Amino acid sequence: MKISIVVPCYNEEECIEQYYNAMEEVRKKLPSDFEYVFVDDGSSDATLDIIRGLARSDKSVRYVSLSRNFGKEAAILAGLKEADGDLVGLMDVDLQDPPEMLLDMYDGIVNGGYDCVSCRRSDRKGESRIRSAFARLFYRMINRVSNVHITSGARDYRLMTRRMTDAVLSLSERERFSKGIFEWVGYNTKWLEYKNTQRVAGSTKWSFKKLTAYAVNGIEDFSTAPLKFNFILSVLMFVASLGLAVFDTVWALTGHAVGAALIIVPVVLFVASLLFFGMGILGEYVKKIFYETKARPVFLVRETEKDIVTEAGRVVASEPVSVKNVDDVVAEVAATVSDGRE
Ligand code: UDP
Ligand code: MG
Repeated sequence: MKISIVVPCYNEEECIEQYYNAMEEVRKKLPSDFEYVFVDDGSSDATLDIIRGLARSDKSVRYVSLSRNFGKEAAILAGLKEADGDLVGLMDVDLQDPPEMLLDMYDGIVNGGYDCVSCRRSDRKGESRIRSAFARLFYRMINRVSNVHITSGARDYRLMTRRMTDAVLSLSERERFSKGIFEWVGYNTKWLEYKNTQRVAGSTKWSFKKLTAYAVNGIEDFSTAPLKFNFILSVLMFVASLGLAVFDTVWALTGHAVGAALIIVPVVLFVASLLFFGMGILGEYVKKIFYETKARPVFLVRETEKDIVTEAGRVVASEPVSVKNVDDVVAEVAATVSDGRE
């Protein structure tokens, strides 16, 4: 059994060695092979030099350096593609993800039978109020408009089986929102909690602008609900135009003069409602194109009979069953009879 830990790094020269030293302590307690897969996400400081140095002195350090800064999502994908362990983990290099939790994660998968053990922060201490408020708003919104449930405070820190990692990689979409992808693929996930800790050094790489773009992207990637606005507006306008038309009729019948505005407004609203209805229909097709171009798998397998493990710990591969054609069997029997052997 081998564990690969994917570690995205962007301008983290101050953190890497501290991270490596802390992880080495944990690694000693893990009863399996281990490899680091550092991803240098186009850093402009000494990040790559430090990783290179580690790779020279420790055979279990592997790395991928990207040609420029592509963002954390791209770095995660690059690392997951590179990792070839039976268990694949993902963690930040700033020690905000406590390394010793890896032992519980390992236990959750190997002894607990989970496909994945993930972490969420139980609080947001140390984070600015406005950032926390927006984060909460984001989780509320995405969970309302999307089919996947994104656990509030979920970190990317997790350990997964090979099967789940392959499932995550089988989603070929380019705009990747990992928090959503990890939920979308399903599988049994155990959640562990920990208190928020500060980065060991350096500063966060997420500006408010970047975070907002990330949140909007997440909603766009996992929900087609905004497309429904056209239908909703269409219905509202139609109801308003109908209401005004009824009002105009009653108004006229009761002997009042109906002004130009009272005639024009319901007509405009009615025409606009038709246009929005048309856009709503277009939206339905756009939704289909959206899902088809994502080309997500239609289903993912959790287990088959090949995964049954015997007491000796060996995976039982089912023997291929040879099915004989009735005519062949008859011909075989006839041949042996004519040979005089029967
Ligand atoms: N990171 C990355 N590429 C980026 C931004 C961040 O690989 O463009 C890495 C970063 O080096 C760190 C992790 O992603 O290991 C989390 O980043 P950060 O600590 O800045 O995020 P926060 O913890 O504040 O959400
Ligand atoms: Mg961090």
